[in-house]
Amino acid sequence: MSIQPIRLFGDPVLVTKTAPVIDFDKELRTLVQDLTDTMIDAPGAGLAAPQIGVPLRVFVWDVDETLGHLINPSLDLSEELQEGEEGCLSFPELRYPAPRAMRVVAKGWNMYGEPISVEGSELLARAIQHETDHLDGILFIDRLSSEDRKLAMKEIRESEWFNENNGAIPTIKESPHSLFGRNT
Ligand code: ZN
Repeated sequence: MSIQPIRLFGDPVLVTKTAPVIDFDKELRTLVQDLTDTMIDAPGAGLAAPQIGVPLRVFVWDVDETLGHLINPSLDLSEELQEGEEGCLSFPELRYPAPRAMRVVAKGWNMYGEPISVEGSELLARAIQHETDHLDGILFIDRLSSEDRKLAMKEIRESEWFNENNGAIPTIKESPHSLFGRNT
């Protein structure tokens, strides 16, 4: 098991579109394990690969005492929406209401390369939408009302974790995970 440092808002890897997984190999299974260990340690309800500096389409969740992971996801969203507060491990202590679809059907692959389909509502649906957004470089503050987004940005600018970086853009460290033959 290997707990990785979680990248915080301001790190460019969080706004980078990720690449699909091509090789379902041992390295991918290590990535899923690292994501799971890091999420449980945090603790959090979900974690996406870019949050530990790996720009690949992989995420994990821990909702209602059930662990899951999904690779190369595509989502089918219900028209019905849910209200509720949302947070993100890349924005410590920040919580704001974010509208999301009430239900989701997510199709993708597990770490052994088998096609899987995950159906979720409420919190699981919220987590899957939040994590899939991460894979497209979209952050939950992008989903807030413009008023809440302003409040959130103010809170971020005043936060200790953001100011520890002195507003500087952190350098991206070399990922321990290969990019599966891709350079992006
Ligand atoms: Zn997040």
